[in-house]
Amino acid sequence: MSSPEQTRVEVVVIGAGFAGIGAGIRLREAGIDDFVILEKADSVGGAWQANTYPDVAVDIPMCSYAFSFEPDLRSARTYPKGHEIQAYAERCVDKYELRQRLRLDTEVTGTAFDEEQHLWEVQTSRGPLRARFLIVAHGPLVRPRIPAIEGLDTFAGKVMHSARWDHEHDLDGERIGVIGTGSSAVQLVPAIAERVKQLHVFQRTPVWVVPKLDLRIPRLLQVLFRVMPLALLVVRFQSNVLHEAIAYLAFRLKMPALVRLIERLSLKALRKQVPDDRVRAQLTPQYRYGCKRPAISSNYHRTFARDNVELVTADIVHITETGISTADGEHRELDTLVLATGFNTFERGANPPFPIIGRNGVDLADYFETHRHGSYEGVTMPGWPNSFAVLSTTYSLTALYFPMIENSTIHAVRCIREMYARGATCVEIKPEPHAAFVRDMQRRQATSVFLQGDCRTSTFLDQHGDAPVFRPSTGLTAWWRARHFPMDHYSFTTSQ
Ligand code: NAP
Repeated sequence: MSSPEQTRVEVVVIGAGFAGIGAGIRLREAGIDDFVILEKADSVGGAWQANTYPDVAVDIPMCSYAFSFEPDLRSARTYPKGHEIQAYAERCVDKYELRQRLRLDTEVTGTAFDEEQHLWEVQTSRGPLRARFLIVAHGPLVRPRIPAIEGLDTFAGKVMHSARWDHEHDLDGERIGVIGTGSSAVQLVPAIAERVKQLHVFQRTPVWVVPKLDLRIPRLLQVLFRVMPLALLVVRFQSNVLHEAIAYLAFRLKMPALVRLIERLSLKALRKQVPDDRVRAQLTPQYRYGCKRPAISSNYHRTFARDNVELVTADIVHITETGISTADGEHRELDTLVLATGFNTFERGANPPFPIIGRNGVDLADYFETHRHGSYEGVTMPGWPNSFAVLSTTYSLTALYFPMIENSTIHAVRCIREMYARGATCVEIKPEPHAAFVRDMQRRQATSVFLQGDCRTSTFLDQHGDAPVFRPSTGLTAWWRARHFPMDHYSFTTSQ
């Protein structure tokens, strides 16, 4: 087990969100105890630690938003709130004895592979570490996107990104501008509308919103889940199958009738919630469901029927000291500006947010600038040996985060154990199977919703015109491959 002073460990896990926690649990289960989990924040939870905006909640049902081996038995709602998920993360850390392996307030600033020693050098804000393996689990939503709008820095009022909420700042009675209408805005806009004097929501692209069945779980059912966790597993299985199936059929355009049905459901809810024809038309997406990340909510659209809420669809021209000017010649005076503008994903410095220098001194970020994104099963790259990504943005996610985390960590631990069994010091994906996998993914994504017609502006697209965030296969295939990919796809070597 690692002590705080130890600078040589077997595995460095980067990130203490669910990906890093899942990696830690899997390592311990495999009997690999000499590892540390580095986390730049002062507590665990990752995105749930960073995103604390009003009414932040998960939009995957609780039965599917948990590790398969650790059901969340404390949830009292179908869709738990952010702090409840954060508490679940803390419970996992304690139950699986990860606390003493955590190094909080420790930011990774760079990593480099030592080709002679087969070790990773990890630079952190608290000094260097050396490790045989790197598990990169920082998650894709680490760099808040600050929009490049002229004059933003001149605004004299308060500016907050949704992922950097300032709870000391009182919004009551203020004039607020919210830029962005993605999943974060869909949650926070209804939550603040009642408290503020005036709310202007600046929309560039409307989002598909489907109703949220956010129900209290009856006490009796909660007790049943506790005494018979198998019952929750059955519910989870059904929920997982449903989510995976919808994602697969919608993203892969396999069943257009299903997509149209979801769209009709969404538009029906919109009609019910927004009586004004003009506002309703402005809130109606003009692209296929699934192209951008859809949101779920039963109260977002109805917020625009309130007297103190305005939907602004005119383009933002610039921001001044006092507010926002739009292309229709209007200027709206604001006290606070909320940037619900999402996260940098493919921009340089976002994923990864620090250098990962592999063989021949090549930084992974440089490689992805010049080559199309894609790692083997979303986990490994030739040229970056002894390193594994969990929750990567390259063909690992089918629909649900937890199965992806479990698949990626099982993949990583299989490689590590095989390397030990062979008495080697280096495990690396061979270029041919990597290239074949990525080619297959690229071929399949060409017929996905992201690369079709009106979807060409999707935030899921990278700088090469690919949409590598989603793995274009079924969840079942991803599950099977993690457990059965051929070991001869990897090379094993030993340092001199
Ligand atoms: P997002 O989905 O990327 O949405 C960002 C919004 O900001 C979009 O409406 C975008 O418009 C707008 N925007 C960005 N730059 C702009 C600019 N310069 N001018 C005007 N508008 C601009 O971000 P998010 O809502 O924060 O969600 C990010 C991710 O967090 C999601 O994909 C999801 O995975 C996750 N999330 C999850 C949950 C959950 O419950 N599990 C909740 C919230 C978020 P365009 O569409 O025109 O680009």
